[in-house]
Amino acid sequence: MDIVAHTLWAAAGVTLLHRRQALSRRTVVATLGLAALPDVLHLVPIAMWWLFADGTFAALSGYAIAVPGQEPGLPPWVQLWSHHLHCVMHSAPVAGLVALIVWLARRAFWIPLLGWWSHIVIDVFTHSADYYAVPVLYPFTERGFDGIAWTTPWFMVSNYATLATIGACLVLSRRRANGR
Ligand SMILES: [Zn+2]
Repeated sequence: MDIVAHTLWAAAGVTLLHRRQALSRRTVVATLGLAALPDVLHLVPIAMWWLFADGTFAALSGYAIAVPGQEPGLPPWVQLWSHHLHCVMHSAPVAGLVALIVWLARRAFWIPLLGWWSHIVIDVFTHSADYYAVPVLYPFTERGFDGIAWTTPWFMVSNYATLATIGACLVLSRRRANGR
């Protein structure tokens, strides 16, 4: 799914959660950040190549919005880092391991990880075999589930319509609660 929709879904989630248990501003920001991060981190090697070597901004921006088979050419090291960072950030085993390590360190679940998890779960079903199927079981396999590509026009319209409806419901229910 696109990064804006990922962040909005996470925002809807933290809004609901916040009504049940008060969340600090830091927790909310970290949750939204982790919901967006998986689609940003793999751009870092390309940005480094642009900033510190002979890469171009056109390649960076072209990569960010590329469709399969139309990606700009990248040096092998950039390609390798970018690919594996993308896999790592979309991997349920990696996210599970991180959640476990953080839980062992804190003896409590760290709520912002829900942002990351939401990104992975949503992406598994909103990518298709033809549109960057998500390597959800990386590093065991890079094969992914054949879902509905989020770029499909009817899906995109219904996704944002659903988000707008949820947003309106959240605002209205807040107003009603405040008016009591
Ligand atoms: Zn993603």
